[in-house]
Amino acid sequence: MARDYYGTLGVGPKASDQEIKRAYRKLARELHPDVNPDETAQARFREVSTAYEVLSDPEKRRIVDLGGDPMESGASAGAGGFSGAGFGGLGDVFEAFFGGSGGTARGPRGRVQPGADSLLRTKLTLAECATGVTKTITVDTAILCDGCTGSGTHGDSQPVRCETCGGAGEVQSVQRSFLGQVMTSRPCPTCRGVGETIPDPCHKCGGDGRVRARRDITVKVPAGVSGGMRIRLAAQGEVGPGGGPAGDLYVEVIEQPHEVFVRDGDDLHCTIRVPMVDAALGTTVTLDTIIDGPTEITVDPGTQPGSVSVLRGHGMPKLRSTVRGDVHAHLEVVIPSRLDGKQSKLLQEFKNHRDRDQAEVVSTGSQNSGGLFSRLRDAFSGR
Ligand SMILES: [Zn+2]
Ligand SMILES: [Zn+2]
Repeated sequence: MARDYYGTLGVGPKASDQEIKRAYRKLARELHPDVNPDETAQARFREVSTAYEVLSDPEKRRIVDLGGDPMESGASAGAGGFSGAGFGGLGDVFEAFFGGSGGTARGPRGRVQPGADSLLRTKLTLAECATGVTKTITVDTAILCDGCTGSGTHGDSQPVRCETCGGAGEVQSVQRSFLGQVMTSRPCPTCRGVGETIPDPCHKCGGDGRVRARRDITVKVPAGVSGGMRIRLAAQGEVGPGGGPAGDLYVEVIEQPHEVFVRDGDDLHCTIRVPMVDAALGTTVTLDTIIDGPTEITVDPGTQPGSVSVLRGHGMPKLRSTVRGDVHAHLEVVIPSRLDGKQSKLLQEFKNHRDRDQAEVVSTGSQNSGGLFSRLRDAFSGR
């Protein structure tokens, strides 16, 4: 049973090529998967595309008019094949969205243009960077105008050929120069290079095919991100002129400073102040790490100022990996600045037991350097 290709496009059997093309474009704009992801719409889009493929090909259309079906296997042999040069479907889908230029370099540019990418910034705490987070952010971009689904026209009105350039999209002028006459062309100022104008523009978008709108979108930020990284959300950017395909949206991470930890790649650094006596006798300190919560750090007896205690694997996760960096606790030994009489006496007694401890001058750089913070401290203390 031959399919009703005319009915699918909603045109009569005597429809002109122009009418068929117009009917197809109108349907393609409504049904294209980019616009309408609904399953029945997609099935219908395939039907409509097939019908257009058949009816836009004079050879295939003749078969239909004779009561046959050129898309039945075998029947298309004489019509140039299914996907051969005769297949105008893809190019015309492109045309339906990108205007009439069909990708040629010269002539009017399409009224429909791809949209621009857009960039947003979002502030994340160090904890959010460490664990990942789902954020709702408000974006303000151009979206497809629902009044005209991108065509820019009001109701059933159609664009007309531009009178200034006659549809060419550019205007030419001849200038005299020392080289002789030079022909220059520039985009037509009336239609801005499109070659057609819209006499009755859509009331919602004024003919642009898109409108600005605020909407909330959900961004999944993976664990391990850091400041300056960008998360790409495909096709969430600006819709283009004429309802052209949306650009991408990039969300850039701004990492907020943490009050305890300083980040260095996947490692975290912090400073722990240890009283002089605890450093000498040894102790344990509880550190509230970002991901693992309270974790004990052992301060060995005889710990020196500027030494670093490392908690392996307690730092930031590497992006898209289970590997984690380390926590470097820089130990600062605190000397009491004031002693009461009894404490003074006790320390004096202690000193009497350590009569070989003397201040001495050593050469700069003789001690072990102990990482980021202690090097700085060393620079200040002159050790
Ligand atoms: Zn023009
Ligand atoms: Zn509109």
